[in-house]
Amino acid sequence: MPSPSAWPSARFDLAHARQRTAFGGPLRDLQAVQLAEMATCTEAARLLVYAAASAYDTGQPDIARRSAMAKLLATETAQYVVDAAVQIHGAPALERGYPLEHLYREVRAPRIYEGATEVQRTIIAKELYR
Ligand SMILES: Cc1cc2nc3c(=O)[nH]c(=O)nc-3n(C[C@H](O)[C@H](O)[C@H](O)COP(=O)(O)OP(=O)(O)OC[C@H]3O[C@@H](n4cnc5c(N)ncnc54)[C@H](O)[C@@H]3O)c2cc1C
Repeated sequence: MPSPSAWPSARFDLAHARQRTAFGGPLRDLQAVQLAEMATCTEAARLLVYAAASAYDTGQPDIARRSAMAKLLATETAQYVVDAAVQIHGAPALERGYPLEHLYREVRAPRIYEGATEVQRTIIAKELYR
């Protein structure tokens, strides 16, 4: 994995969107809605992870449901955000050595290991029916 400082983040994409001009205008205007969506989903996933961790630390009930929801949203969001970041960066993002090219491959696995997305959904539904 590249060092965390090389990972794309909302900041990384914002910098690119600020600099880049395409189709007669700054990318920041063309991609504003997409960037807002990426930032909102990332924040929601982060809060769900913190909520699950806090519930575990304080001995709250329903840890299985909370942690399955956190894992589901965080891993699906990571995939969505990296895919959207590739779209914003365009063709160079797919060149070998570009951090996003690496992340595009790496981000796929967490939706499968430690419980695939479908398994997380099954756990959540089972806990809701309990
Ligand atoms: C990078 C990486 C690291 C890993 N590290 C570890 C590790 O450290 N320790 C470890 O034990 N394993 C590890 N694994 C294995 C991982 O846990 C399994 O890949 C995962 O459990 C899925 O099992 P499988 O690959 O055999 O696919 P299968 O069990 O054949 O599942 C294939 C697909 O079927 C669907 N599916 C499976 N079960 C259900 C279900 N109950 N309901 C609905 N749909 C379902 C999912 O979409 C799943 O992706 C790792 C895998 C990867 C990719």
